[in-house]
Amino acid sequence: MHPKFPLLGQLQQQLDALDAAQLRRTRRVSESACAPQMQVDGKAMLAFCSNDYLGLAAHPRVVEALQEGASLYGAGSGASHMISGHSRAHVLLEERLAGLFDSSIPSARALYFCTGYMANLAVLAALGSKEATIFSEELNHASLIDGARLSRANVVVYPHRDVQQLDALLAASTSKTKLVVTDSVFSMDGDIAPLPQLLALCERHGAWLVVDDAHGFGVLGEQGAGVLEHFSLQSPQLIYIGTLGKAAGVGGAFVAAHATVIDWLVQRARPYIYSTAAPPALAHALLTSIDIITSTEGKNLRTHLQQLIRDWREGLTLKHWQLLNSDTPIQPLIIGANQPALDAAAALREQGLWVAAIRPPTVPLNTARLRVTLSAAHSREQVAQLAQAMTLLEATQT
Ligand SMILES: *Cc1c(COP(=O)(O)O)cnc(C)c1O
Repeated sequence: MHPKFPLLGQLQQQLDALDAAQLRRTRRVSESACAPQMQVDGKAMLAFCSNDYLGLAAHPRVVEALQEGASLYGAGSGASHMISGHSRAHVLLEERLAGLFDSSIPSARALYFCTGYMANLAVLAALGSKEATIFSEELNHASLIDGARLSRANVVVYPHRDVQQLDALLAASTSKTKLVVTDSVFSMDGDIAPLPQLLALCERHGAWLVVDDAHGFGVLGEQGAGVLEHFSLQSPQLIYIGTLGKAAGVGGAFVAAHATVIDWLVQRARPYIYSTAAPPALAHALLTSIDIITSTEGKNLRTHLQQLIRDWREGLTLKHWQLLNSDTPIQPLIIGANQPALDAAAALREQGLWVAAIRPPTVPLNTARLRVTLSAAHSREQVAQLAQAMTLLEATQT
């Protein structure tokens, strides 16, 4: 293949092996804004795969705020937060976000990051150490797994939603620093971690509870503040990560925690310190996203989204594929083997319906799935169309 370049030859062999196992990933090119109706690789598609749960990614007020932010602050930040990149827009956003956690975290402050991936690396690496133990939920997001590795802490994985097992593991640990780390809404399954029970355990065993609410912020809770509001949790031991590229429609992420935790992150979180600050215009646009999320408009969007979730679940009639139990906009259908999952996604694509097929290693072996995600930007008719197409497809493919 590459006779003169053995290193390239090795990589090519590995790529060929991915092809043989139907594990090669491909990227489709969208030519329009993130919305239900998209232009993808030159074709009109109805999309059910973004994490834009409230339809804010192309919301006219958010887009206008981004333009205004660019006029006010320019295109880029120019430096890290420690040097000269820390803008008034970042400060205003952090203050606004911290206010959402007044009743769940005492003395709450917030810290804005370029991405959720970085925020997770930062929190775990700054709070973990060789002397710490990280108790990591089995289905945690890759960024939490990588953060745990970066921290050099001892890592113990506990089974999915298994509070009893976690209790036993915490009781057996002699670590000075214990961190229980979990997704709130599991990104490939859509179910929610039993956070009230987890927090009770953490308080009993003197452990931090690190909650990655990437799929809950904006979606869960009366004012959209996420999973802590949803469960009315309150504790200084909570460390909350919300991402801002999903329901908030823009990009970046934040950590909300007690002021002392935030002070420590600013001193020690390498992904925060050694990276150029996100463009201030993004922070400026996010102020408008947060306004929408917490307003009556946001509440109405969440009510509509819940209606769509009910419609979808009631509209499907399946015999073989398994619809997972989920009340969130993440609605996966387990198919099993890789090729049938890819075939199903391809058949939907032929009909102009865009649904992502998710394969290992993102999900466990033999649980390849169609990951349907719903957005408040969808209409009830669009969701009915997908449910009908999916029911027909399952009947013909199996
Ligand atoms: C998307 C996601 C992240 C990463 O957030 P980005 O802002 O996209 O980097 C982290 N955790 C979970 C659970 C996610 O789904």
